[in-house]
Amino acid sequence: MNVEVNPLVAGVEESATEIVDNEIKLMKRAGVKDIVSLGVGEPYFDTPEFIKQAAIRSLEAGNTKYQPTFGDPDLRKAIQEKLAKENQVHAELEDIMVTPGAKFALFLAFQALISPGDKVVVLDPSWVSHSSIPLLMGAELLQVPTVESEGFQPDLERVHSALIQKPKCIILNSPCNPTGAVYSPDTIRKITKMARDNGTLVISDEIYESLLYEGEFFSPASEFDNVFTVNGFSKRYAMTGWRLGYACGPHALMEQIMKIFQHSASCVAAFSQAGALEALTNPASAEATKLMVDLFNRNRHLMMESINSSGHLQCVSPKGAFYCFASYDKPVKSLDLARDLLKTSHLATVPGGAFGLGGEYHLRLSYATNEADVIEGLRRLRAYFDQIGN
Ligand code: PMP
Ligand code: GLU
Repeated sequence: MNVEVNPLVAGVEESATEIVDNEIKLMKRAGVKDIVSLGVGEPYFDTPEFIKQAAIRSLEAGNTKYQPTFGDPDLRKAIQEKLAKENQVHAELEDIMVTPGAKFALFLAFQALISPGDKVVVLDPSWVSHSSIPLLMGAELLQVPTVESEGFQPDLERVHSALIQKPKCIILNSPCNPTGAVYSPDTIRKITKMARDNGTLVISDEIYESLLYEGEFFSPASEFDNVFTVNGFSKRYAMTGWRLGYACGPHALMEQIMKIFQHSASCVAAFSQAGALEALTNPASAEATKLMVDLFNRNRHLMMESINSSGHLQCVSPKGAFYCFASYDKPVKSLDLARDLLKTSHLATVPGGAFGLGGEYHLRLSYATNEADVIEGLRRLRAYFDQIGN
């Protein structure tokens, strides 16, 4: 049957990060054993044992039913306290929701906000779904370049030129996927103020909050009311597969989001939420996160040294998240390069072009893995470039 699908959906690209991850999993299932993945952004660590035990206890206690749409009240309270204590964000309980992943929180917000033709500002390069979700809703993207020679920092004049077009929202993501850039509190303040002056909502994606090696983290909702804050458990607690995110924002937006949530995912699984509550309230979490972040920081140095001495690659030092966004010196499109690397060297990377025009001729290399894979991955990458260089 020739199904006439929604052209908006047909026009949107698949997620490059998901494609890479799916492909590696297929190769592994097919018996390819020597793959090194610097591809998908997910901590190599297992979820801490005490968090898993809390979920098991919840299942054993029979918590197998639907939950309130916006989440378990105790978990929401714990999130409210976390936001107040760590971020100086004071949200009402009714405006805080627990979602199946931070990605779904973004999806809900965009769906509640965007009518076809509305403008959305994204910095370029930016994470694949930051542009694809608004495109699914029919938004017109205003892409504001951030450039390598400026450390991928947003240029305030360029941002201002976009904001005076009165877009519905602007997405900020500091620390940033894919560049690792961290924006100063002052930069975030200035952008949020400009956005407010133009009636624009700031969507602050704070998922890499804890993956910070240099610079300062800042939540704009601590000082401004035109902010929708998104965060989650995937990266900070190595809980990617649990599908756990959360968000808070202006009441008028959350009211509309509630309806979409009710008519779509309904709620997050009870046992996942029990794990999340444990993660937020057990003091052992801080140590578990610290161990992980310390290892990633060592990997960051290791990867940067190898990139800088390669003779073929260059990279602005990432200050947060867990990616090196490296440019290379060959006139080959990043998608072709990433495909060839996977095929010939069994090395998974994400093509930079997937993150926007400004990402072309880059590869995103995740160092959220073990040290041995960082070393072996960079060895293969350098060998590949040495070989095609001859
Ligand atoms: N935002 C950014 C910038 C990300 O890199 C990710 C990770 N995929 C997410 C949001 C979503 O994370 P999750 O849905 O696993 O909570
Ligand atoms: N599976 C995640 C996603 O695409 C991975 C994030 C990433 O690699 O950027 O949502």
